Amino acid sequence: MKIGILGNGQLGQMLESSVTDLNDLEISLYDLRAHEEGKLNAFINEVDIVSYETENIPAHIVELLEPVEDKVFPSLKALKVFQNRLLEKNALRAAGIDTADFCAVNSLQDVHTAIETLGLPIVMKTTTEGYDGKGQFVLRTPEDAEPAWNTIGSRELIAEAFVPFLRETSVIASRDRDGNINVWPMTENVHHEGILRYSLYPAAGLSEEKAQIAERYIRDLANSLDYVGTITLELFETEQGLVANEVAPRVHNSGHWSIEGAEASQFRNHMLALSGKTLGNTESKYPAVAMLNVIGEEDSSIKADSLSNAYRHSYGKEARPARKLGHITVVADSVEERDLTIDALVDVMPEGVWPAKN
Ligand code: AMP
Repeated sequence: MKIGILGNGQLGQMLESSVTDLNDLEISLYDLRAHEEGKLNAFINEVDIVSYETENIPAHIVELLEPVEDKVFPSLKALKVFQNRLLEKNALRAAGIDTADFCAVNSLQDVHTAIETLGLPIVMKTTTEGYDGKGQFVLRTPEDAEPAWNTIGSRELIAEAFVPFLRETSVIASRDRDGNINVWPMTENVHHEGILRYSLYPAAGLSEEKAQIAERYIRDLANSLDYVGTITLELFETEQGLVANEVAPRVHNSGHWSIEGAEASQFRNHMLALSGKTLGNTESKYPAVAMLNVIGEEDSSIKADSLSNAYRHSYGKEARPARKLGHITVVADSVEERDLTIDALVDVMPEGVWPAKN
């Protein structure tokens, strides 16, 4: 079976390498940055299944997939929903999942209306193509309305009530073609300057009740869209419960730990789901796991090579500020051992980001 992945970045590469032992699967990656209509048509005609490593696929490329939508997984319908924050929030609500209150914003008057109906603070975002905190504006006073509109108002916007969260978490699952779903344990995710810096399993002190709610959420969401493949739900943890922030119709940075940390990784189960095979076990193989991103420069990550419980992944990319160049997975027999190992690798993180060093 031939599977073609749109996108040849690190996610595409890790999807490909997750099934190198399965001889009946032939994987090819399509470089979206070098897109040409003829090239894409040839690519999609050659493969049995089309998938993608990113939801940021321009509309003119999505259009070319319409004629072959039966072989696109996750479905084009799911892709379109999760490309747009308004459609996404509506889909979350329809599946019975808590989100921040929100409304569409298409004019400066709408910004004022949003302030009246949602109250302040408000997080205003472009509905499409925002990632890592780009295309966002936090409004704290009514006077912020105009600068916010002038900064990002050239595009369709969504206004969201600000969620006073305790921390950010995510839950990832794969759903196969028969509707079976396997869910990985949740991680706690810590960002710095809008970019994920590290993820921890277990998320300290996470109640069994909240873990079960997250699992129910992702199952209901995947079922509601007859979703096939790996799906990620980012959740704010608040005093009261869990509030969905956003969905990625794909493998996610906060699930990279599963390559070494779980029996089946998020990448492998995505490929197994697409190709109609049985999903692998998603439980953690270790009592404690961490994923540290290597951002901007790689030298700081070399230390991982000398640690027996750390695995360094390099994406082979040229260094640039704020660019994800690789990640390190830490596996451990206890949270204490995990955290001591992160202490030893603290140089991969900006000052103050890893709390044990504060
Ligand atoms: P996003 O691109 O939607 O993931 O937003 C980027 C970051 O902005 C999130 O990881 C949060 O830290 C913050 N954020 C986004 N939406 C909200 C919200 N409604 N309330 C509070 N913080 C938010």
